[in-house]
Amino acid sequence: MKNSYSNIFTFNKKILSKTIKSLKNGDVIGLPTETVYGLGGNAYSKKAVRKIFKLKRRPQFNPLIIHYHNIKDAQKDVVTNKYFEKLYKLFCPGPITFVLKRKSTSKISRYACANLKTVAIRFPKNKTTRAILKKTDFPLAMPSANKSSNVSPVYSKDVFDEFSTKLKIIINGGKCKVGIESTVIDLTSHPKILRPGIIDKKVIENSLKIKILAHKKKSKILSPGMMKKHYSPGIPVVLNQKKHDGKSAYIYIGNKHKNKRDFFSLSEKHNLFLAASNLYKIFRIIKKKGYKKIQISKIPNYGAGIAINDRISRASKF
Ligand code: AMP
Ligand code: MG
Repeated sequence: MKNSYSNIFTFNKKILSKTIKSLKNGDVIGLPTETVYGLGGNAYSKKAVRKIFKLKRRPQFNPLIIHYHNIKDAQKDVVTNKYFEKLYKLFCPGPITFVLKRKSTSKISRYACANLKTVAIRFPKNKTTRAILKKTDFPLAMPSANKSSNVSPVYSKDVFDEFSTKLKIIINGGKCKVGIESTVIDLTSHPKILRPGIIDKKVIENSLKIKILAHKKKSKILSPGMMKKHYSPGIPVVLNQKKHDGKSAYIYIGNKHKNKRDFFSLSEKHNLFLAASNLYKIFRIIKKKGYKKIQISKIPNYGAGIAINDRISRASKF
């Protein structure tokens, strides 16, 4: 079924075969995942991978996450280990990305991995994307479907706002449930969180029964998601704000300012998972309303709050 956007489609059998054909042809398409919408292409095809970088205007040193249907498919390209196997059993498919050593026989385009000897892999949970991954004999290189440094899209229409009709197919999967990018964990040596997400460090530590390292802020860029300016709504963002300045958009958690103009609650009931899932949606709403600046109140720094603080702190590097 088509809607008012000529390239946004509801998923069905016909679109599935059209999508597979398009991907085999080296095209790049917009796909829903449980984290954010992705810009997917054949990870084994240099042509498709280059298209992704070009469309996103992504620096070539910033590698892409490679998406698989299951562990067996992934084992064609990466060397797995006991930490990976444990976390895979517990959390996959789900919002967690693993950095592992690349196999010498891997067919993944070197461009996708920025020439590194490692590959970041993920198993997305969204049913539509899983159905597509099941039908292809290649994994999908898939970064978030936004121009580099912008806010990630959580609705198919956000993808359209980013790329318009430059994509032949954008599949509508409704709002992304998680709403922020996956946790990225490096498992090539002692586990290290490269990017916080809703599966947080404590949960992973309890599962693996080890202490995990959080990356040092000033260390070299191991994971380009560490780049300072990122996830930017395009207007100044200021953090830890106690008082509304009378004109900016004010983001907070709770219901203290319910129904007041300029106030946007991430979660009325103080649920940090919901708060994370609403962050980018609210950034985009605020930008569309024409505000010139965003103030954000202090956000608790535990659980999903750690991931929220990571994203808003980068968004504030304007
Ligand atoms: P995005 O595509 O915007 O969701 O971001 C993908 C994240 O995964 C970025 O932070 C990348 O730096 C990170 N990433 C992808 N591949 C690797 C890799 N081989 N090693 C380390 N980080 C990676
Ligand atoms: Mg991104």
